[in-house]
Amino acid sequence: MIVHEWHLSEGLAVNESRGLDAQRVYIDEARLWRTLMEMAEIGPGSAGGSNRQALTDADKAGRDLFVHWAREAGCEVSIDAVGNIFARREGSQPDAAPVLTGSHLDTQPTGGRFDGVYGVLAGLEVVRSLNDHRIATVHPVEVAVWTNEEGCRFSPAMLGSGVVAGTYSQEFAESRVDRDGKVFADELARIGYRGSRPAARCQFAAAFEAHIEQGPILERSGVQIGVVTGIQGAYWLELSLQGIPCHAGSTPMEMRKDPWPCATAIIDGAYAIVAAHKPWARVTIGDFRILPGSRNTSPAELIVSMDLRHPDVQQLESLVESVYELTADVCKEFGIDFRIAPTWHMPPTRFDEQLVSLIEQVASACGYSNQRMLSGAGHDSLNIAQIAPTAMIFVPCAGGLSHNEAEYAKPSDLAAGADVLFKAIVRSASP
Ligand SMILES: [Zn+2]
Repeated sequence: MIVHEWHLSEGLAVNESRGLDAQRVYIDEARLWRTLMEMAEIGPGSAGGSNRQALTDADKAGRDLFVHWAREAGCEVSIDAVGNIFARREGSQPDAAPVLTGSHLDTQPTGGRFDGVYGVLAGLEVVRSLNDHRIATVHPVEVAVWTNEEGCRFSPAMLGSGVVAGTYSQEFAESRVDRDGKVFADELARIGYRGSRPAARCQFAAAFEAHIEQGPILERSGVQIGVVTGIQGAYWLELSLQGIPCHAGSTPMEMRKDPWPCATAIIDGAYAIVAAHKPWARVTIGDFRILPGSRNTSPAELIVSMDLRHPDVQQLESLVESVYELTADVCKEFGIDFRIAPTWHMPPTRFDEQLVSLIEQVASACGYSNQRMLSGAGHDSLNIAQIAPTAMIFVPCAGGLSHNEAEYAKPSDLAAGADVLFKAIVRSASP
């Protein structure tokens, strides 16, 4: 086991300036677990998870609980115009740019107890532990709760952090509408989280996000800490294939303009393209609509969503191009009119090499097995990486399962991630 140098004495008061001991765990595993389980009681799902979609009453209750805990821990809480919450623990130089950590409290409809929530409550645990050990940092430490990360209620995902990063305007966020026609701005005001802090680009000295992996790699390799070097890029395409609706019984097959054979050929072709870009390319057909949606009418239109991912910019562009070509070719062959358009795009993100190395060093010094890896999923850090040096810490989750109420992470792994987060924050906040 490697026990190194890091006595973080410069500019730092650690219990009357004894150095921070890499081998000592300062965070409280049981408290972190209790806090996670208490949050999961809010907006309970039907199968042990949580349903706390953005700007619902359950989201409000989850936010209220976090704000209560943050104030109890001595933080000053501010809320910006799109509902992002910042819990600030002051530094010895209040003018210094804060070191940021955090994630999201909103969940999918079949959300688990850890996706996002862990990153927020691990940040809270860091603050509580700094208090317990009377550690003063030079930079302030801020724990952020980003609004509408999931994107399941209001599209797009990662909206709150996107506004802070300048990816989206405040007006764009405010104008988002959910499936029931409810508007983001109205719902935000309704739950009392339209704050006075400007939702604008802020300066952060460094930004960290702890998160469950949401995939099977760490568990499969028996590694406790994922040192995340970046996030895969993604394109969401929407494909519309036009048919002519006709009677299911009286119209001979050869006289139909049925978009189905065309759709299946495109889907097969997309899987083949992705298979030719192993191992990193991904395609997901996660949503599908049939219009008018009647079992005895050949469809007037098929609308297919396609999510394409790759960590490399050129490869991702080439995947998208290939799918466009495929669609045009197949539709021509079947004589089907079509539209294909991107509805969302997330370029691949590279995290800050210094912070990535810091996380790696800290994890190794603590004796946790660790490996560098890419994130397949999008996270708020992707936006924050546009405005601040950013990195992420992953911990394993059972079976790689996420966006599922059965999502589970071991208390010991969650504590290991929070321990690494704590030490990385202390080092960054007292350089
Ligand atoms: Zn998440």
